[in-house]
Amino acid sequence: YEPILSVDNLHVSFHSQNRVVKAVRGVSFALQKGETLAIVGESGSGKSVTAKSLMRMLPAQTAKITEGAIRYDNQDVLSFSPRELQKLRGKEISMVFQDPMTSLNPTMKIGRQIMEGLAKHEKLTKSEAKQKAIQMLEMVGIPQAAERIDAYPHQFSGGMRQRVVIAIALACRPKVLIADEPTTALDVTIQAQILDLMRGLQKQTGTSIILITHDLGVVANMAQRVAVMYTGEIVEIGPVHEIFTRPQHPYTKGLLQSMPRLDADRSEPLVPIPGSPPDVTRLMGGCSFAPRCPYVMRVCHHFSPQSTSLGPEHQVSCWLQDRRAEEMRRSFCS
Ligand code: SF4
Ligand code: MG
Repeated sequence: YEPILSVDNLHVSFHSQNRVVKAVRGVSFALQKGETLAIVGESGSGKSVTAKSLMRMLPAQTAKITEGAIRYDNQDVLSFSPRELQKLRGKEISMVFQDPMTSLNPTMKIGRQIMEGLAKHEKLTKSEAKQKAIQMLEMVGIPQAAERIDAYPHQFSGGMRQRVVIAIALACRPKVLIADEPTTALDVTIQAQILDLMRGLQKQTGTSIILITHDLGVVANMAQRVAVMYTGEIVEIGPVHEIFTRPQHPYTKGLLQSMPRLDADRSEPLVPIPGSPPDVTRLMGGCSFAPRCPYVMRVCHHFSPQSTSLGPEHQVSCWLQDRRAEEMRRSFCS
């Protein structure tokens, strides 16, 4: 069966004066219909840049996709015309960000904002659009929706605003929803409600979700698969239960030991990963995790590990698993 969205060897660079930051380096993954794929990693690991690339929403002056392919529903997204892109955004793929106020217009009534999204992609009369807006608000659990459509964003709480953003994002029944830290700004109880809501809506609509988060509890609750990013690369990708119980990449192991998790009551203390991610403007050859890795070997400093399959859905990029390792060791020792 065909994935709805696939990314192959994506490279993204940011240019400013005489600096080049390679923010995404060789990212590949495929999103299946109806699944939730989580992308985790520290800030600056390239999660959001990857997500924005999918909708061609990178800042045109500074960012450039230098290599790779993005396919949506078997079409080549990188060759889309502005008109095709406009249709893609909102109608086919839509996005929810961390701060709902960045997506809402503070001076416009909630109902009108939903109706505007609908009007861009669907032919509806005014009263049909209004009915649909009310339905959407009901669907995301906003009480007294018929009256609340005339409220302004500031009259809603943070959690309610994020519900509205989700209503707008789902109004045109997109096939893919990209949620970038959708609950990070909310308190824990509201977070759980929003995640429940997203899961429920996904069940009804069959939408595929890419969920960007740094919270492994959220991953455990929401996703079937998880991709772990480090300095612009996916270092490990696989089914959530497999990655959580048998992580193979030293960085994934470090993440699991360093983060508090709501899903697991754990007795071991949290162990932070020593050091910090390298300056991406100065990446040298070799594995970018080498300076922080407790398992580092000589080969790691000189050559990048290749992605190796550990099972049909589980891939890792680390010399500990790389099939070329034995050969490399021999040539290093002789
Ligand atoms: Fe550690 Fe080497 Fe694996 Fe990189 S390739 S994660 S340095 S063991
Ligand atoms: Mg981000």
